[in-house]
Amino acid sequence: MVDLRSDTATRPTPQMRAAMAAAEVGDEQRFEDPQVNALCEGVAELLGHEAAVFLPSGTMCNAIAFRVHLDRPGSEVILHRTSHPVLYEGGQPAAYSAGMVCPLDSDDGTFTGDDVRAAVHDPGNRYAPRSRLVSVEQTTNEPGGRIWPLERIDDVLAAARDRGLRTHLDGARLLNAVVATGVSADRWASGFDTAWLDFSKGLGAPMGACLASSREIIEEAWRLKQMTGGALRQAGIVAAGALHALERHVDRLADDHARARTLADGLAQLPGITIDPTLVETNIVRFDVADPPAFCAELREHGVLMAPLNATMVRAVTHLDVDDDGIDTALVAASRIASA
Ligand SMILES: *Cc1c(COP(=O)(O)O)cnc(C)c1O
Repeated sequence: MVDLRSDTATRPTPQMRAAMAAAEVGDEQRFEDPQVNALCEGVAELLGHEAAVFLPSGTMCNAIAFRVHLDRPGSEVILHRTSHPVLYEGGQPAAYSAGMVCPLDSDDGTFTGDDVRAAVHDPGNRYAPRSRLVSVEQTTNEPGGRIWPLERIDDVLAAARDRGLRTHLDGARLLNAVVATGVSADRWASGFDTAWLDFSKGLGAPMGACLASSREIIEEAWRLKQMTGGALRQAGIVAAGALHALERHVDRLADDHARARTLADGLAQLPGITIDPTLVETNIVRFDVADPPAFCAELREHGVLMAPLNATMVRAVTHLDVDDDGIDTALVAASRIASA
């Protein structure tokens, strides 16, 4: 099966498994796990922050960071309508932080400093929720792996600073943006109060994410990690996979981007499929077909897995476990279905 449903489909490579098996480990809660310590130091430096904490998932990074920032019930986070915390985290901002979401709209998942200024409530207005946080997703997930332009992020950060808001970067796929643009991870991330990276997406590790921030905020995040059962023991087995991924699997994200573009260009030639390949900036391809579930069911018959995204769209994501032959297989399958 060529599994293009998500870049979470990657399995650890034999080399990654070997690094994990050989890892020297200890109790991460006591800061005695050398792999976890090295990973946290590495990610803090990579993202241009003072400190970082290892967490089991990216969702927990968002949840804990939101909880730190939304420190009083009824506080509001400004973010995109399609962002992961709005769509895919079980209502986390409300359930875990007693927070409100202020969802902004646009096609590509980005917004501007003016959008933020327009969304912020006057702090003297006791009728409105207390605006507290702005959250940005780089790259955007649901809108198709789009890259926030650097100036737009700077603009949003300036607006947030201006209005006294905290800022959070959901960097589940930040390194895809780094590889696609050549802009360094710390240039993207250091201006935010909190920022994180996921190891279980395109980087190809089985699990884990690191949340970076100031020492003070990471201290607070540790309390919440403990509270939610995210404090681990010999987590170095997993952290070793993440370290291996940071060393070996970053530059190769460019291959995923090239394959996504090849897939998009091929799909654009097929009858019954609508796609603008120029919107494919990283590893996520989205296209319109008449009946997404039926299309995906037929693809499966041909050994290819893609996922229906909504009533009109199918999503395909390239990653470490899909090579050029996999893209060929997917295109041959799609053309058989399209011309049937
Ligand atoms: C996958 C993803 C998350 C959640 O990460 P998990 O490690 O799967 O919990 C959060 N934000 C974005 C943008 C994502 O793509």
